[in-house]
Amino acid sequence: MTAKMMNAAVMNQPLDIELRQVPIPVPEDDEALVKVYCIGICGSDVHYYEHGRIGRYVVEKPIILGHELAGQVVSVGAAVTNVAAGDRVAVEPGVTCGRCEHCKSGRYNLCPDVVFMATPPVDGAWAEYVTVRSDFLFKLPDSMSYEEGALLEPLSVGMHAMIRGKVGPADRLLITGLGPIGLLAVQAARIYGVNEIYATDIVPFRQQLALEMGVTAVLNPLTEDVQARLEELTGGQGIDVVVETSGNGKAVASTVSTVKRGGRVVLVGMPAVSEVPVDINTLIDAELDVYGLFRYANTYPAAIQALSRPGIDIEKVITHKYDLKDTREAVEMARTQKDTSIKIMIYPNM
Ligand SMILES: [Zn+2]
Ligand SMILES: [Zn+2]
Repeated sequence: MTAKMMNAAVMNQPLDIELRQVPIPVPEDDEALVKVYCIGICGSDVHYYEHGRIGRYVVEKPIILGHELAGQVVSVGAAVTNVAAGDRVAVEPGVTCGRCEHCKSGRYNLCPDVVFMATPPVDGAWAEYVTVRSDFLFKLPDSMSYEEGALLEPLSVGMHAMIRGKVGPADRLLITGLGPIGLLAVQAARIYGVNEIYATDIVPFRQQLALEMGVTAVLNPLTEDVQARLEELTGGQGIDVVVETSGNGKAVASTVSTVKRGGRVVLVGMPAVSEVPVDINTLIDAELDVYGLFRYANTYPAAIQALSRPGIDIEKVITHKYDLKDTREAVEMARTQKDTSIKIMIYPNM
């Protein structure tokens, strides 16, 4: 029997993506076949497209990228009970072993055996269909769009930052960097009940978007004395938690002096170099808590609950939309127009 075919955007090698016919995957017993309606372009996809590698993950053969998606269940394997054909779902793109120490303790984002979409050699979902283990599918309420479903992935990073930083309504927050992750961290902070949210970025378009998304004030670290301004804006109370998303070395180093004594720092953005000079004496003297962050765990159900009631608009980060056949153009836009694009969406089943 010949396999049924579908369109997929295949990256043959860096800077070379083409639309190709590939077999439609067949779900295993514990998997569902999902028709992909909306899938985002992530910074990591762009990085693989440009450089062919991220750290120890190297693109060695043609790969389908993309891991921020939502769609509709088409069929399910014999053992699947939590979703059925016709369900609209968000896809959590990392399937974990469920057996290791980290999985069992609930920190499954640290699972050494995770199979994560669009991380070589694992294919992602810039394609018409994808198969996913069904426990990583989350039903979307009718009130939620496929766009929101796809954005749950980058929003999850922001949600996880709030959990790592033990953020609550009493906290004054600073988010450094207003790319997709920073902007969605703003929305995550609002979900966690934060009222005073400050942010820094140097790009006017991003600053404006952050203000529209509910940030209290945006500062430009190149033209303003951020620390003095924050002192003034918070009436001398200071910043309880800094969430660093830019990956800029200077921004990372400045977190220990921007946060107040006894405060918390959550490091999300990965600097291009692994060594960044940080004032350790300040860190010790001020009893700071510093948290690393890797992806997220158990955030989808909470995010779906939080977005089910109106008030938090995450779709504002979407700046461009493309058909699957124009994936190369879409990724080029993401690569070259960083100052005017935030989140770019691809629609494999227009
Ligand atoms: Zn992503
Ligand atoms: Zn595991």
